[in-house]
Amino acid sequence: TNVSTLTLNSGFEIPQLGYGVFKVPAEDAERAVSDALEIGYRHIDTAAIYGNEEGVGAAIANSGIARNELFVTTKLWNDRHDGDEPDKAIDESLTKLGLDYVDLYLVHWPTPAHDNYVHAWEKVVAIRDRGLTKSAGVSNHLVEYLERLENEVGVLPAVNQIELHPYHQRRDIAEWCAARDIKIEAWGPLGQGKYDLTEIPGVEAAAQRTGKSAAQVVLRWHLQKGNIVFPKSVRVERLKENIDVFDFELTAAEMTTIDSADKGEAGRVSADPREVN
Ligand code: NAD
Repeated sequence: TNVSTLTLNSGFEIPQLGYGVFKVPAEDAERAVSDALEIGYRHIDTAAIYGNEEGVGAAIANSGIARNELFVTTKLWNDRHDGDEPDKAIDESLTKLGLDYVDLYLVHWPTPAHDNYVHAWEKVVAIRDRGLTKSAGVSNHLVEYLERLENEVGVLPAVNQIELHPYHQRRDIAEWCAARDIKIEAWGPLGQGKYDLTEIPGVEAAAQRTGKSAAQVVLRWHLQKGNIVFPKSVRVERLKENIDVFDFELTAAEMTTIDSADKGEAGRVSADPREVN
């Protein structure tokens, strides 16, 4: 496929668009991921908590696609930050996925009330050093948590995977990360289907001009911002639509109009990282 790639600060390449499987039921995961791989997706974003790593692994095993052509991410769940729990968690994830390594392993949430995310990050870095993941990263980290990783561990994540879409753009986090070559992975890139994408300023006009859908315009906006995305769908037509975003460009003016749609905290559609524990 013609999916663009980015180079992470770890030196590894990542397809800028992939397939995320949050809320894909375990029994549907193998078929959904098989469909995605057939359509041309080569980057899969899962997590231990999604409960579908076995289905993801089965689809990968049955695909016949060489391991080094795939980019697989999974995540350390919140109740496993302490002690040697991360070591056990990555072993369990790799067993379920049927893989020797993942491409990216993330601390899923900082869970600040529990306050052991600095240790969890140290463990994920050590897991990387043992070769069980190629790159190490975090998810849902606000600047104040990232600063602790920088100051107390001194190793920067390759990515920070955060809720980010036109109504919730998190410029504070995006700028802090950009200054350190930490890539932003935008979860909920389509606002999780919770608002009408055609109502975002500039989106409908850009869709009309380019002959693309509102979802494709929003995904294109992410890509031109430098974000990594993995929109979720279990419908083949939408899987095809969501990867078909590499044959057009938004103008600078269209980008600026969508940039102006940010509602800050009011635009959040999902959980607040300060409150997830
Ligand atoms: P998303 O923005 O990808 O929204 C998915 C929903 O958008 C679908 O259920 C559907 O209703 C709609 N949709 C998809 N394609 C469409 C199209 N072409 N046209 C119109 N509507 C369309 O939200 P998400 O699934 O929450 O996020 C994507 C991925 O991000 C997840 O699957 C998961 O891998 C990851 N994620 C990570 C975290 C985290 O805490 N790190 C949290 C949530 C999601």
